[in-house]
Amino acid sequence: MKRFRYAWFAPIVALLSVSAVAQRSPAPQAVVIRAGVLIDGKSDQARRDQVIVVRGNHIDNVSDAASAKIPSGATVIDLSRYTVLPGLIDSHTHIFLQGEDPAQGGYDANILTAPLALRAARATVAARRALEQGFTTLRDVETEGAGYGDIGIKEAIEAGYIPGPRLFVATRAISTTGGYPLEGYAPELEMPKGAQIVDGPVEARKAAREQLDHGADWIKVYMTHRSWVGRNGELVSQPTLTVEELRAIVDETHGWQKKVACHAYGGIGLHRALDGGCDSIEHGLDLDDAAIAQMLKQGTWYVPTLSVYYTDWAPADTLAGQRDRLRASLHEPSFKKALAAKVKIVFGTDMGGIPWTEPIAQEFSKMVDFGMQPMDAIQSATSRASVMLDMPGKLGVVAPGALADIIAVNGDPLRDVKVLQEVQFVMKDGKVFRSN
Ligand SMILES: [Zn+2]
Repeated sequence: MKRFRYAWFAPIVALLSVSAVAQRSPAPQAVVIRAGVLIDGKSDQARRDQVIVVRGNHIDNVSDAASAKIPSGATVIDLSRYTVLPGLIDSHTHIFLQGEDPAQGGYDANILTAPLALRAARATVAARRALEQGFTTLRDVETEGAGYGDIGIKEAIEAGYIPGPRLFVATRAISTTGGYPLEGYAPELEMPKGAQIVDGPVEARKAAREQLDHGADWIKVYMTHRSWVGRNGELVSQPTLTVEELRAIVDETHGWQKKVACHAYGGIGLHRALDGGCDSIEHGLDLDDAAIAQMLKQGTWYVPTLSVYYTDWAPADTLAGQRDRLRASLHEPSFKKALAAKVKIVFGTDMGGIPWTEPIAQEFSKMVDFGMQPMDAIQSATSRASVMLDMPGKLGVVAPGALADIIAVNGDPLRDVKVLQEVQFVMKDGKVFRSN
């Protein structure tokens, strides 16, 4: 009965609301942010006393406080004691990893014993942790055996079920036979792998098609796997895909207007990655001059993920410990050479390899310790990353037309990037997530 009465009134209600929209077309309520200092993500200079007008999910206007027109009825958020920046972008994370402790079974136990729902629950917490720390966008570069779980988390965030950053996801990642864990088990056993294994260009292209079909925003390829100290004390990295296999993936992915991120340390695998047309080199801890020249020529992005290689070394008297120390000793000069050559360096951490309880922004300190200017480091996590993600002007900048992803910190990050580890205010898509 009630249902019948409702149905009878419904068309009238609908008609009324349509005509109301036609008459008023209401603009979203304005939110005004007063910024003591603004680092807009793109300009090389910070600006004092700025007013940012946000409408709905985007930034309408940015101007000097002295000349700003405050829309009537606007909600005002006073950040005049803070430094305001665009929401930060971490371009190398794994929300489906939690810095698994080797003493508790490490990476293998995660795949062998954790139900997928448990992994999804942990990923939900990781996503929330990132947003709390002012990282409003992540490029999450593979789920480490959790299949297409990143697509599910991304959907849950977009639909508002859980809080989290904007996600660009790579789904399963691709490597070759002998090129990814789980490994070291009896050869009679068919073990699950943390990435999709392919051999030959046909399988490689098919894997890319599958992943793109299921919603991958990026394709992640492992171009090197094991690494060890070679006969002459050099770092050796085991190459994985051939150039032909990689070219099949890159060709397919570019056809979908998507990009390919390649994990590559150095040597043969790194050079195959560049010859095969990778869009970004991940880690790249042993870059030779030829690789840097080729990256400049091809416009390849470099996501160095420094911090993760400077912690948790194996004991010095073990082979793995010697390898860990050698990797770190090469990484710093590689980063410095790339910086001097003006390779396009983008902020990435490998969070997940690092527990999500640690500060994501610690990577800024490592970049600055190795000679990067603080403003350059900030741009590597804002406007420069947005170009790599094909979102220039929309992400990583506080300017008219950009999405309203805005954070604030106490103090001057240009003097000490450490203040970026203590984010005081986070807005994503025009909605305040955190305000201390
Ligand atoms: Zn990684």
